[in-house]
Amino acid sequence: MLAASASLLNIKVAVLDVGVEAPAKQIIASSSHIDGSFRDKEKILEIASKVDILTVEIEHVDVEALEAVQKGHPNVAIHPSPSTIRQIQDKLSQKRLLASFGCPLGAFQAVDATQDGIAHAAKELGLPLMLKSRTMAYDGRGNYVLRSTDFESITAAIDFLGHGSRKLYAEKWVPFVKELAVMVVRGLDGTISSYPAVETIHRNNVCHLVWAPFRLSNIDQDPTLPTKAEHIARGAIDKAFEGPGVFGVEMFLLNDGEILINEIAPRPHNSGHYTIEACESSQYDNHLRAILGLPLGSTRMKVGAAGMLNILGSSNSDPSKISPSPSSLSFSDDLLVDKLTHVALGIPGASPHLYGKAQSRKGRKMGHITIVGTSDAEVRERMTPLLTCLAEVEG
Ligand code: ADP
Ligand code: MG
Repeated sequence: MLAASASLLNIKVAVLDVGVEAPAKQIIASSSHIDGSFRDKEKILEIASKVDILTVEIEHVDVEALEAVQKGHPNVAIHPSPSTIRQIQDKLSQKRLLASFGCPLGAFQAVDATQDGIAHAAKELGLPLMLKSRTMAYDGRGNYVLRSTDFESITAAIDFLGHGSRKLYAEKWVPFVKELAVMVVRGLDGTISSYPAVETIHRNNVCHLVWAPFRLSNIDQDPTLPTKAEHIARGAIDKAFEGPGVFGVEMFLLNDGEILINEIAPRPHNSGHYTIEACESSQYDNHLRAILGLPLGSTRMKVGAAGMLNILGSSNSDPSKISPSPSSLSFSDDLLVDKLTHVALGIPGASPHLYGKAQSRKGRKMGHITIVGTSDAEVRERMTPLLTCLAEVEG
């Protein structure tokens, strides 16, 4: 999606990803693309030798390699900076950094991945206890909810979280009523602006739905809440992280109206996909503008409301099942992905985005569908056939 924004401005993009048909490489042609992993130091140095600016779409990159680029290619700008990526990669150091600037957070503490260490944290922070892996965590893959401190429960937690090999920390359980997100963008000159607060709904720890803008009617809350959320998100980025680009700030709303920061991503974020169709400039347009030192685009919504549904794979795909016949055009060999796309094509205001990933896997993000409309009610009505289809396929 970043490559799609770049192509509209004739900006040349070289992509480092595995395979010659990696999703971003399908969007923008270049002889400079590199076939390799974003965790491979040699490949990172290789791409750095071809570009003026390096940016990332995932924070789990090899930071040491980026630091080597800083030394070996001092003329290459890296946004977000390796120091920001390093801080954010380790969720505990991210929390500590935010806490040091007075950002609103729930209680948290470091935890030894041992029976005693976890029992101690549970005593301090209570049950249920959210145990999180400090690094390499995304889509809930590094999280475990501990509900009891008996030996078996703690053993299960340790086993799930890397058998004691991964560093952990614990968070007090946050009894949120809603989850919110705000995309923040900072230009090269330091100007900061934010997109409207949105509601995010997760299923199995993975973003499922986004409703934009955040709607108050179903919780009977303070009308200044969305502005407060934007203020908190902008404040966190302003104080704790440097450099240009887009940041996704995930937050919790409590029933008394308090807002706590959950975590921050130093890049365009799933909760901001809706901005492509719904805002005057998308998060991708603005990330590019920011890192290139161009004027930031407006973050205002240009439609009354929007909704975004993530399309997750339902099964492992079998490429031989793709039908080439136009009369039964398949968009994917994953039945659910295919059905949702067909349903979306019949909904006014719906834009399916399929990412062109070579293989579907259960739970893998294969695409998303954004729906725009004049009002929240209209968008929710337009979303209904998709949610019905999903429920039918899932049984
Ligand atoms: P990831 O990096 O995988 O997105 P998060 O830390 O954001 O992991 O957690 C994923 C989801 O788990 C959150 O969106 C939220 O629904 C839930 N969650 C995370 N932390 C807590 C907490 N302290 N209390 C209650 N729920 C939480
Ligand atoms: Mg998260």
